Amino acid sequence: MACFAPSRPLASSRAIIRLALLLSLLAVFSFKAQAAENTLVFYADKQVSDTLWQPLFSAIQNDLAKEDYGLSDRTPQLMRSNEVFPGEEFGRVIEVKLLGRCDVPQQAYRPLKPGPLGWVLRVHGEIQPYIYVDCTRMAQVLDPTTLGMSNEQRSRAMSQAISHVLVHEWIHITTQNSGHTEHGISEAQLTAATLVAEPRTTQAPIDNTQNSVADER
Ligand SMILES: [Zn+2]
Repeated sequence: MACFAPSRPLASSRAIIRLALLLSLLAVFSFKAQAAENTLVFYADKQVSDTLWQPLFSAIQNDLAKEDYGLSDRTPQLMRSNEVFPGEEFGRVIEVKLLGRCDVPQQAYRPLKPGPLGWVLRVHGEIQPYIYVDCTRMAQVLDPTTLGMSNEQRSRAMSQAISHVLVHEWIHITTQNSGHTEHGISEAQLTAATLVAEPRTTQAPIDNTQNSVADER
């Protein structure tokens, strides 16, 4: 019986500790939410080499930092899907699915039907936070442009092109507008020259080979 007596002050100090813990957790979560407004989580085919990621993430970060595409968040967190831990808290998440061999800029020619390089999905009138990039088609579109380039230049061109398609689709998601503009990143058809243009040179010489398309389904 006597053992119940000292448990009262203990209980109230426990409550204080719990409250302090809760407040510090809330502080951590609100800080996290501010630190990463958007998180782009990338999924790629299993056979894709790890060498894809570093140049790709640098190209995206560089692109967003140097070019003002009108996106409110120019420093999103970039993560591979296998880096996400269960229960991890994020701000807004956008999933990016890379289809085909995004790590191999030059690929054997396979006749492909004309189609988009990237797209987003609209469900019940709302553009969903999922971006698809077709690397098999991209590699073919870039083939003539990357001819004569070194392997390093080629993967740089591929990373740049993926970044441009990603930004194009991300704009559709943030604006909830599937429309296109006549010039710039939101053109319905991005030429190969525009796709591989490094930041600050997006207004590259106009290439009339309209064989590349960034569009939604
Ligand atoms: Zn589009």
